[in-house]
Amino acid sequence: MLRDALKMILEIQELDIQMIHLMRIKRERTQELERIRLLRDDLHHQVILKESEIIELKKQMRLSEGDLTELQSKAQKLEQHQSSVKKVEEFNALTHEISGIEREKAAKEQRLSDQYDKLAVEEDLLKNLKVAYESTKGNTSQLEKEIKESIEAINTEGESLFVRREELLSDADPELLAVYEKLLKNKRDRVVVPIENRCCSGCHILVTAQHENLVRKGEKIVFCEHCSRIHYWLDNLSAPSEEEGTPKKRKKAAASAR
Ligand SMILES: [Zn+2]
Repeated sequence: MLRDALKMILEIQELDIQMIHLMRIKRERTQELERIRLLRDDLHHQVILKESEIIELKKQMRLSEGDLTELQSKAQKLEQHQSSVKKVEEFNALTHEISGIEREKAAKEQRLSDQYDKLAVEEDLLKNLKVAYESTKGNTSQLEKEIKESIEAINTEGESLFVRREELLSDADPELLAVYEKLLKNKRDRVVVPIENRCCSGCHILVTAQHENLVRKGEKIVFCEHCSRIHYWLDNLSAPSEEEGTPKKRKKAAASAR
């Protein structure tokens, strides 16, 4: 009986829709988890990067300081030498050399001073990064725990849906089931739908009167001409079984009830 086969498929369909919904949430949750991890890893990476930048800067500063000391002693030696020089040309040449060294020293001092400024800025940044990283670590661990728990719950619910589906499958009409599953795979949405107000409630496109009659008769599987969904007539399925085969009576009863 097509009517019963459709009823069974509708039950399976509701489980499948729940499953699709669950899997969508699970996917979102998993992505959320991934985003949290990326955020944390990124901050951690920034901390490490900043630390190594500071180490490198300090190394350069030590070198600059060494250069300065060297220039200082070089200038001093030249000055000492100059005091014992007799010839004017030699004296002038030394003056020229010393002032060159002094210029070089001044430039290096300026650079070192800039490096000190930079170091202060970088150390400040590092401190902020560490604070951000620590607080993110603290905040996200709770959130991560919650998300993981919700994924666990989704898995449990999914398993029970699967078990219920398996139970229904043994009673399902194999031919209809195959068609249904193929459609579901394509649409990831309800594929067995009623006609309502002369419309396919899947694609909401108007169906012809002949089409509607065919569905009402319920003798064979009728597909929507537009979206290929399987159509059914709501009253056919919702009516109690004993009234099966007396559609006229049902219709009258329904009309007088309105
Ligand atoms: Zn349709």
